[in-house]
Amino acid sequence: MLYRHHHCLSQEFVCCTVVKVQKKILERNAFGLYVHAPFCSSTCDFCAFYQEKPRKNSVKTFLEGLTTEWSLVSKPPVPDTIFVGGGTPGALQESDFARFFDILRELAGDRFVEWSVELAPAETTPAKLRVLRESGVTRVSLGVQSFQPSMLQALGRRHPPDQARRAFDWMREAGFDNLNLDLIFCIPGQELSDWRLDLETAVSWEPDHLSTYCLIHEEKAALFAQVKTGEIGPDPEREEKFYLYTWEFLKEAGFEQYEVANFARSGKRCRHNWNVWRMNEWIGLGPSAASQWQGERWSNVASLQAWSDALSLGCLTRKDVVSLGPLELAEDYLLFGLRLNEGIGLRKVAELCPEADLEPLRLFFHQLGEEGLTEARGDGFRVTDRGRLLVDRIGSEVAHRFASVA
Ligand code: SF4
Repeated sequence: MLYRHHHCLSQEFVCCTVVKVQKKILERNAFGLYVHAPFCSSTCDFCAFYQEKPRKNSVKTFLEGLTTEWSLVSKPPVPDTIFVGGGTPGALQESDFARFFDILRELAGDRFVEWSVELAPAETTPAKLRVLRESGVTRVSLGVQSFQPSMLQALGRRHPPDQARRAFDWMREAGFDNLNLDLIFCIPGQELSDWRLDLETAVSWEPDHLSTYCLIHEEKAALFAQVKTGEIGPDPEREEKFYLYTWEFLKEAGFEQYEVANFARSGKRCRHNWNVWRMNEWIGLGPSAASQWQGERWSNVASLQAWSDALSLGCLTRKDVVSLGPLELAEDYLLFGLRLNEGIGLRKVAELCPEADLEPLRLFFHQLGEEGLTEARGDGFRVTDRGRLLVDRIGSEVAHRFASVA
């Protein structure tokens, strides 16, 4: 969906309107910098992300490439938000980690309002946290996934639960006042009562933000072998119970849900992700990082060597490049916007795609409303809890119908 090409609009219309729309976005909206550190010490059984082992030479290649890549991006704006993910950036040894953040400090500028970094419990140390504080990092996301040894084992996750607690305490001691915990549910063998314990533990740590993801069975992940033999697999009814339980539990615990998988204390939403979901612009650095900028969306090649070889020739390795015209931006705004609790606004759709006829869209939302899946909000619509269970299907259908009449 994200990378689909559309050929139904005339080229002149697309070019002219793309420039106008992008100019407006640049004038008004935040710009993000994403940096992908493609290193993991071991591979979790549920993970299908591109990654490398943090060998000395690979890390050197990566660090050298970053500055070159940034210098090849023509006149990027100073970032308003920064997100360093992976992989696990913490997989770098302390001296490389410090060097990594020296480089990032150069790119970060002095305008950012949020700088997030992902860390895994096993790789968090007080020295690395000091580097983050000194660099100006404002937010840390800790990949806990579960607090129970049996669940961590089922995920092929290598850290013992007490390591996560220790890492979290170090983060607070280092002075971070914006901490996220990542959790996974619908793990094979996990009962709702196990998940309740995980949620209770998470809330008792008093994080500022929680991300809760339903386990997805990716074909390239090790766990997929068990999907093929039929031992495990998606179970929509079970997933529905976990989703509804999570939303209710965290609401009662005082967290504001602002996206299907994301919950925050007041003022602690992740601004970087928010900007991405609202179709603003960002540049991604590092192998496999995605970008959306100047009317195009693309991914870097998912190979450290190929990424670095191209950079040494003064080239960027962009693939899956998609031209983002008004229609694509509006479609993706609908798709991602419906995942947000505040939903979508029709004025914004009109702003992104001025030529579109919004009447069929309005009618379709009313139809969904009669089925209890969406409700009116402001000048637009959002999904109900029932609709949120089907949000990706609803979003695709809405975007598809919009594209077919726009
Ligand atoms: S889940 Fe995170 S830590 Fe585990 S292998 Fe994937 S990227 Fe690495």
